[in-house]
Amino acid sequence: MPVKTYSLSVDGDKRLSKNFIVREFACNDGCESVLIDDELIRVLQEIREHFGVAVRVNSAYRTPAHNARIKGSPTSQHIHGTAADISLHGVPPLAVCQYAEFILNNKGGVGVYRDFTHIDVRLSKSRWDERSGIQVSVSGFPGYSENKTALSDNGQAGAGHAKVETGHVTDGAGHASDSSKSARTQLTPQETGPAREAGQEPAPMEPMPAPKTPVIVYKPDGVSTVTLEGFNMQGSVYVQVRALSETLGHMVDWDGKQVTVK
Ligand SMILES: [Zn+2]
Repeated sequence: MPVKTYSLSVDGDKRLSKNFIVREFACNDGCESVLIDDELIRVLQEIREHFGVAVRVNSAYRTPAHNARIKGSPTSQHIHGTAADISLHGVPPLAVCQYAEFILNNKGGVGVYRDFTHIDVRLSKSRWDERSGIQVSVSGFPGYSENKTALSDNGQAGAGHAKVETGHVTDGAGHASDSSKSARTQLTPQETGPAREAGQEPAPMEPMPAPKTPVIVYKPDGVSTVTLEGFNMQGSVYVQVRALSETLGHMVDWDGKQVTVK
């Protein structure tokens, strides 16, 4: 994750990767020095290639002075050259987050906003959702890898669901939006320091199978029996009429009044 310092006037058009040049990462105050982390470029290039559309860098490096001016947190990743706020035409920010989650794999910072995504390459992990204008810490943005592996389960596994840990508002990113049009309200602009470690995704809930109950059925001779598999639901034992009919070899009718089969 080496951070390199470039000169805007000298290196402005220097190509950092196939689709990114230095100028795009310059501080919006026009400062000459531009700090850019190699790893950030690698991640952004991967996002660019995955979605196949241009990645617009709204704000990347910020000088401490500029960061303070726009009310960014003093420890914002942007002042280290390790963060970028990006938007991809036609791609929902949440989808960008899901793919970033897949790439970053328990590291880095990913924040979803209404119209952009914050990505940073810090060594620890931080995830947040600020689409409402209030920053809420989340455990992650699952969805991308699940879409690939778990779709066969029920056809809807992996629908992007960000698990929200409600109840506390944090400023995990030390992030401030860098333009007046998308200025955000941060209720408690405080730093959380080390990133929260997200827990493992819980396994999806399986419906509890009804307990099986053997049901002894007397055949018409009144002597021989056969055991069917009934199931117990809320205290009542059910057995399929069809199974009963097939066992007995003739039509079976349910008499609801007598609560018997005949
Ligand atoms: Zn940001």
